[in-house]
Amino acid sequence: MEKGKSKKIFEQAQLSIPGGVNSPVRAFRAVGGEPVFMESAQGAYMTDIDGNSYIDLINSWGPMILGHGNPLIADAVTDAVKRSLSFGTPTAAEVTMAELICSMVPSMDKVRMVNSGTEATMSAIRVARGYTGRDKIIKFEGCYHGHGDSFLIAAGSGAATMGEPDSPGVTKGTARDTLTVPYNNLEKLQEVVHENKDQVAAIILEPVVGNMGCVPPIDGYLQGLRQICDDHGIVLIFDEVMTGFRLASGGAQELYGVKADMTTLGKIIGGGMPVGAYGGRADIMDMVSPKGPVYQAGTLSGNPVAMAAGLAMLGYLHDNRGLYVQLESVQQIITGGIRTNMKRLGLNYQINAVGSMFSLFFTETPVVDFETAKTSDLTMFGKYFNAMLNRGVYLAPSQYETLFLSTAIGEAEMEKIIAANYEALQEIHS
Ligand SMILES: *Cc1c(COP(=O)(O)O)cnc(C)c1O
Repeated sequence: MEKGKSKKIFEQAQLSIPGGVNSPVRAFRAVGGEPVFMESAQGAYMTDIDGNSYIDLINSWGPMILGHGNPLIADAVTDAVKRSLSFGTPTAAEVTMAELICSMVPSMDKVRMVNSGTEATMSAIRVARGYTGRDKIIKFEGCYHGHGDSFLIAAGSGAATMGEPDSPGVTKGTARDTLTVPYNNLEKLQEVVHENKDQVAAIILEPVVGNMGCVPPIDGYLQGLRQICDDHGIVLIFDEVMTGFRLASGGAQELYGVKADMTTLGKIIGGGMPVGAYGGRADIMDMVSPKGPVYQAGTLSGNPVAMAAGLAMLGYLHDNRGLYVQLESVQQIITGGIRTNMKRLGLNYQINAVGSMFSLFFTETPVVDFETAKTSDLTMFGKYFNAMLNRGVYLAPSQYETLFLSTAIGEAEMEKIIAANYEALQEIHS
């Protein structure tokens, strides 16, 4: 595979962009080798600037759930562009968007649009603090909630990948207000809640974790969290930036039948444009300015082009709920194929999967939290990643990221992925 053009532009990139990328995990540091620069994408495939094509298993980290170049979304964007890129005034599309989101995620009575998942989570905890009059928040080791200061404590995703789960630059004061607990462990959580009685404003989590690789909640875990929050007057925030509109039309809360007090959204919600949102119970959201005293604003929030893309995407997902069943069966075929491959090769690595999210962990230990995710052999993962890339399958360039399927993946792609997996596993063990 010829990658000369990517290699050259990456060298150039490092002179003007820190590490050559605008988001750390893209730099391939965790897997060795150098990033490939993409030029175009259609359906299930991305094409790089050297002309190589890859089956896409990250799908822009979620948003491309319908595959690339879906005409429904492209046309909506083109239409909106003709009317104006931005007004800085209210538009009717924002109202339609808010109504659609609240109808799809029943725990949300009101919602505010922002421009990224990071903005959504930062704003949500500010509102939860304003609502409860308390300062502390609880997050879980290995969960990622964007790059807000409060969340860069025991953070997953790129922060874990770069070995910087506790980032320099976060003040001690901020760090003190963030308490961390292992995921999937209600006992430890109870202890911390009791030690900090009447001080915890919010518990925030990924209801299915994607940012330490895919880690589902164990039976009863989300229900247990709900109970603890009810008992102690704590705001339960489901960070569904990744899982929202991906695991079900109503997100993980629909799938597991647990209602959050507040929900944060991102990724799919913008159909590929930079969009985030946070919302929840009316009494909590009415704290937000100008209705209430908690300040939060955005020059480009609710941008008309972004709203057009998001509305087209969410409208489609709302009307085509069968698509989640289809996506899950694609996942089951692929993970089933990988399991068969491993059996043939005498390997026993762990696969975690929920709906259209899945991870292959290079460990034999069942992965239920960040401790167990870290038992993975990262060197092996790096080799596997590159072996797959060279066979035309683009995986997330870190063990601590989930993979995302799109509806554009058909029979032919499933076969190629499974065949590439067999060859790659064989190659890295030879
Ligand atoms: C991606 C992600 C974020 C951050 O969203 P950005 O748009 O990258 O700021 C927050 N929370 C979760 C669960 C995410 O997966």
